[in-house]
Amino acid sequence: MASEKRQKAIDLSHHLSDVSRARETSPLKGLSKFLGKPGLIVLAGGMPSEAYFPFSGISGDALVADSFALKPMEQESSLSWFWKLFSGANKEKTHTITIPKFVEHPAEEVNLAVALQYGTATGLPQLQKFMKDFVDKVYQPAYDDCTIMVHTGNTDGWSRCMQTLMNPGEKFLTEEWTYPSALASSKPYGIYPVPVALDKDGMSSAALRNVLAGWDATTQGKRPHVMYTVPVGQNPVGSTMGAARKKEIYEICVEYDVVIVEDDPYFFLQEGEYVPKASRPESVDTVSEESWLAGLAPSFLKFDYQGRVIRLDTFSKYIAPGSRLGWHTCNPMFAERLERQAETSAQAPCGFGQSLVTKLLYHWKLEGYTRWLHGIATQYTARRDWFIDCLAEELDLKATTSTDVSFWKDCVVYDAYAKPSGGWMMSEKGSVGTKLLSFVPPSAGMFIWLKIHFDNLPAYKRQGEGEESPEIQLWTKIAEAGVLISPGWFFAADVENPPTDELEGHFRISFSNADFATLKKAAQIIARETNKFFKA
Ligand code: PMP
Ligand code: PLP
Repeated sequence: MASEKRQKAIDLSHHLSDVSRARETSPLKGLSKFLGKPGLIVLAGGMPSEAYFPFSGISGDALVADSFALKPMEQESSLSWFWKLFSGANKEKTHTITIPKFVEHPAEEVNLAVALQYGTATGLPQLQKFMKDFVDKVYQPAYDDCTIMVHTGNTDGWSRCMQTLMNPGEKFLTEEWTYPSALASSKPYGIYPVPVALDKDGMSSAALRNVLAGWDATTQGKRPHVMYTVPVGQNPVGSTMGAARKKEIYEICVEYDVVIVEDDPYFFLQEGEYVPKASRPESVDTVSEESWLAGLAPSFLKFDYQGRVIRLDTFSKYIAPGSRLGWHTCNPMFAERLERQAETSAQAPCGFGQSLVTKLLYHWKLEGYTRWLHGIATQYTARRDWFIDCLAEELDLKATTSTDVSFWKDCVVYDAYAKPSGGWMMSEKGSVGTKLLSFVPPSAGMFIWLKIHFDNLPAYKRQGEGEESPEIQLWTKIAEAGVLISPGWFFAADVENPPTDELEGHFRISFSNADFATLKKAAQIIARETNKFFKA
């Protein structure tokens, strides 16, 4: 699609909410067309004088783009690397980024006089340009006039889309298990999710079609015209939607006129298939940045020939969540409405953060930033592998092609049994041979989604009247033993009717943050407490 002549986005203005239609352009913004005029004396805005900004410059030490190896490191060498870095022994691994208040060419170079002044809600022009080049190169949108504008992270990005596209009382399509903050944004507006079943490739296109084709407006209200999806490293289940599934979903959305909001924080954390430690090759060939990018599941933008995708990107997982910085990529009409919305709230993200991140990106350049992302992806892949290896040490893992775990039908599922022999498990009489839990190694992202087989609990331990569900009982035991994980019910799109029953619990475990030794300890505690819980 990218090589063909691309069309401009089609008119999708009928998707705008009443609130969004009612937003007016601030009369002061109408002045901006004069602002580029040389020699113009500007006395129109309430802008404080840059001379009174107390910061005459800021700087920060940033790692070089190739800091993280492209071959998974053993945890010991990774730890010693950090030790060296923080003890100052690895100074060559950092570069100092400096942003002066004034520069000779303020339109080209990042400077505080501009970054800390009032600006447009679209963000620093240099950042916008970098992101646009990045989007064109990496996601290759299928239409011609896609537009970039900053937001303050994907949480804000979705919240703005939700308010721009939907009126109270409307419903949106989403995966049956989904990111709870997305639901928390819409709920107070009376805007609720319609769950769509998942399978191993993410949202099921057959299930989506069923929901839309079977929609009865007289009993169910207006048919959903917005989809919220986390297609890569799906939060919480960890699935990744490949090109074929994205095309199918996109075409259904064209047919039923649905706008797709693609919340994709884990796009660059595509980790591939998990290979058990014993079969993992000692060394792997590293691939070029171009081949790495080409091998990633594409964004919905690649199939978006109409401009009906609003893609949300965030720097949270690649630079820092505290940068509160990300961007929308969408058609110019949606971008203009989202900009009007930002003008009356955050305006633009904080100028300190924007300028530091922009300068870092310009220092790294597109190639360097891609290399950085590739290094980070390698790190999370090593973490994913390590955590599953640790579980395999504690439990007897058996890989099967299963039809047992509903949404993972026909893919490789790891079933975990209490170990038949060895170590402390020997004494845990009665638990040997019981299938405790199952999971599918995530292909991207930061989470492992465990299904716990509470149907194998001794009958007297199943939920009695007035008791907590087995999921909460075991979750509490694990928390009391010192490991906090997330109970599955948090993630049900429809908490009243979760896509599971009482005897099928879930946990979401994040392997993204704790150090390797702590992850190992956590796996031991989770295995031990689960084993104990299932004992007769
Ligand atoms: N309220 C009033 C009365 C103002 O004059 C201004 C700035 N001109 C603002 C709010 C905007 O404030 P802030 O930059 O903190 O969003
Ligand atoms: N969207 C999803 C699906 C997430 O998993 C997360 C982080 O956990 C976010 C958004 C939050 O992103 P941000 O920090 O950009 O608001």
